[in-house]
Amino acid sequence: MSTISAPQEQRILDQVPKQLYIAGEWRNGAKGTIAVEDPAIGEPLCEVADASPDDAMAALDAAVEAGPQWSQHPPRERGEILRRAFDAIIEHKDELALLMTLEMGKPLKESQAEIGYAAEFLRWFSEQAVRIDGRYAVAPNGQGRLLTMKQPVGPCLLITPWNFPLAMGTRKIGPAIAAGCTMVVKPAQQTPLSMLMLVRILEETGLPKGVLNLITASSASESTGPVISDPRLRKLSFTGSTEVGRKLMEQASENLLRLSMELGGNAPFIVFEDADLDAAVQGALIAKMRNIGEACTAANRFHVADAVADQFAKQLAAKIGAMKVGRGTEDGVEVGPLIDDNQRRKVAELVDDAVGRGARALVGGHARDGAGYFYDPTVLADVPDGAELLKEEIFGPVAPVKGFADEDEAIAAANDTEFGLVAYVYTSDLKRALRVVERLETGMVGLNQGMVSNPAAPFGGIKQSGFGREGGPEGIEKYLETKYVAVNL
Ligand code: NAP
Repeated sequence: MSTISAPQEQRILDQVPKQLYIAGEWRNGAKGTIAVEDPAIGEPLCEVADASPDDAMAALDAAVEAGPQWSQHPPRERGEILRRAFDAIIEHKDELALLMTLEMGKPLKESQAEIGYAAEFLRWFSEQAVRIDGRYAVAPNGQGRLLTMKQPVGPCLLITPWNFPLAMGTRKIGPAIAAGCTMVVKPAQQTPLSMLMLVRILEETGLPKGVLNLITASSASESTGPVISDPRLRKLSFTGSTEVGRKLMEQASENLLRLSMELGGNAPFIVFEDADLDAAVQGALIAKMRNIGEACTAANRFHVADAVADQFAKQLAAKIGAMKVGRGTEDGVEVGPLIDDNQRRKVAELVDDAVGRGARALVGGHARDGAGYFYDPTVLADVPDGAELLKEEIFGPVAPVKGFADEDEAIAAANDTEFGLVAYVYTSDLKRALRVVERLETGMVGLNQGMVSNPAAPFGGIKQSGFGREGGPEGIEKYLETKYVAVNL
């Protein structure tokens, strides 16, 4: 039985502004429109504007023009705009969650969780806006004074992925607004609707014209290329794949842009024999199945002590196999579709490769027939070295389990990847926990818990998972420059 009716779906789709937002005006894209699809049925939901390079440059012009005034805007008022937007998002949480489920596919409950998470970035940075400060010091020789001040970096380009359609935006927009930066935002073309609604909310909560400009485009490189090359742009913040991140870094080197790169992951989930196994299975379920496995933080491989590996895999397979798969708007659904057929094909190839090399599917292992891009939740046991899915980001509901003999072997396996976003560790031995955490080559660790995301904490990776931190007190730093003034007394 569907909990959501077709008229309810249509009502929220009708409310979404579908044009470009430039200099406080909604306007058509010069290239026409792009279709947005419902991945659960593979059919179009609506069309949004398709920006040309000229449209993108008009968005940058607006950001540049609004810059000087916005940088002088009282910090308290910048914070209040964010705080009002937080309240508005929470007030419309259910409609926004439905919209997110329609465009991205995740179950309604998960969309509601993302809406709350996304809104919290605005609340957090509303509180940070009034905590931007500097330093006053006496020079060591006593002769002069050293003054430092923090100033907004200037116009930013913010590019976001489809897997968390709202939170990946608010994690950038919140600190940019709080710091006094202006911006051009480009959401993923597969999921622009949640961000378009956010822009409408910010417009209604009093964000001045030109501070935030949004473009949607069928060609990301064509539309953002000239913006990145323009010397008036000061910062590029990107969340997406490592492959695209590399290209953008190259482009950004032309003008030495300030960069934040939140890229791909390949998270190890390590379970020691002394762990509370039920808690580890519960944590694994969250780390793997949240967002249908389409999260940069998704546990990509489970390294489990040989003594408990079979038991862990069996318990995990029982839980994952019992999850209800379906359209995210339906009652009780826990696993939605993948974002598109390409993604589903990639997941299927990775599973086929592992099974071909000797892995055993305890549950799942197949794509679903019929409409939508569904793939059965899957647990693979006895995954051999050399299986591609140990190296590549799976981005789907597939949990490969592999045994290890001792702590050194577990750590070596966990670090054997070019990625370094997050790792999860389950153990009840405190000394071991700290020893292992220190040796893991990642920007974040979940210690006896399957989720690390928290707006009050610095999210980000090392190695080829990127650099820069989003959220926490650190999250605003990359939107501020430090100016030092040598004062002669
Ligand atoms: P993606 O293909 O890299 O795309 C991300 C964004 O970049 C989209 O808006 C995309 O536009 C745009 N883009 C693509 N090519 C571009 C180019 N040449 N120039 C400028 N922009 C370009 O990644 P995705 O498939 O959407 O997202 C999944 C990836 O994001 C995974 O690797 C995941 O791990 C990573 N991710 C990382 C984090 C983190 O915080 N570390 C968080 C979430 C996701 P189009 O939509 O038009 O292609």
